[in-house]
Amino acid sequence: MERLPDFGAQHGWDRDYPTYSDFDLPTYVGLPTFMNLPWLPDPAELRRRGVDIAIVGAPFDDGVSHRPGARFGPRAIREAQYTSGSIHSLQLRNEPFEIVSVVDAGDANIVPAWLERGHAMIYRKVREVAASGAIPIVFGGDHSVTWPAATAVAEVRHPASIGIVHFDAHADTAPEDWGVLGGHGTPMRRLIESGAVAGRNFVQVGLRGYWPPVDVFAWMEAQGMRVHFMTEIEERGLDAVVDTAIAEALDGPEAIYISVDIDVLDPGVAPGTGTPEPGGLLPRELLRAIRRIVAAVEVAGLDIVEVSPPYDQAEVTAMAANRIALEAISALAAKKAAGRRIRFEPAPGVAGKRTEGGVAGLAVEAPAAAPREAAAARDRRPE
Ligand code: MN
Ligand code: MN
Repeated sequence: MERLPDFGAQHGWDRDYPTYSDFDLPTYVGLPTFMNLPWLPDPAELRRRGVDIAIVGAPFDDGVSHRPGARFGPRAIREAQYTSGSIHSLQLRNEPFEIVSVVDAGDANIVPAWLERGHAMIYRKVREVAASGAIPIVFGGDHSVTWPAATAVAEVRHPASIGIVHFDAHADTAPEDWGVLGGHGTPMRRLIESGAVAGRNFVQVGLRGYWPPVDVFAWMEAQGMRVHFMTEIEERGLDAVVDTAIAEALDGPEAIYISVDIDVLDPGVAPGTGTPEPGGLLPRELLRAIRRIVAAVEVAGLDIVEVSPPYDQAEVTAMAANRIALEAISALAAKKAAGRRIRFEPAPGVAGKRTEGGVAGLAVEAPAAAPREAAAARDRRPE
């Protein structure tokens, strides 16, 4: 019988080579999950595994007022990384993924051109992650995603039990954007008006430029909001301002939700964003601030928003966003290693509120004639 060729042996391709787990392979190989971590969208599994931190994508930019593109942010932030496996934080001298359990919980169930539905889906996704006890780290998306995301965290923890430290060039406290309540100029107003967060515990850091107008600023002052302009950071330094911001956010509440609009950075170092405003922070200043806040307080959640990859150059904006997440994870790991609690155990019944296909009582309604209704109805059908 004729012998079949063995090209593998002929070329030496049958030798023993080491192989690597998905986690240890380079980040450009395989699925683009955050840091090659497991893709674990099932909230029951998050709870069963006792996951400490879960990445959530909110690929949504139907709320932008100027340059679009932030819907591509979550994927770009996940991909902006070249180290894999058990990374070593040189800032905090720890190996965070050896200490805390982190997974990528996937994306909210977003479709284009349906603002209200998008917010509902982000609320549900973040709520089910937070109700599992894991700390959600949300990748936006435009800044309107903070309305449903922070609302979900506040609800799981108890309304008014969290303060917010909000890094941004802009206040995002408009009453409406051209008649739309859910635009990315409005989320902080919605969070305060609904009672999810008290105005006096809403602390803004980095504001500069030419917005908001005088009447909006008067509303903010009437709510007791605390504002730290870029000019104050220039005069007092960011460390001192962050210390003040922490004390103000925790003036009553027990935990802090951090919202980072990447445009708090100077557009010279973070051009990939929708409404750039010259005169901002450097990445090293912002990364240090994140480490200091996370080390000092109980963190209820974090979002990183307004990364618009089409306007980015050499991924620098996406990399800054990626490192904000890594600095927070490393600081949480340092706390856990020191014996401090980082997971949150919601009150009984909080997780049970969720039903198959979404949170009870929040089914999305579409006009009867809309072809989307049939799809939405299919999605709502119990499994
Ligand atoms: Mn913003
Ligand atoms: Mn902004």
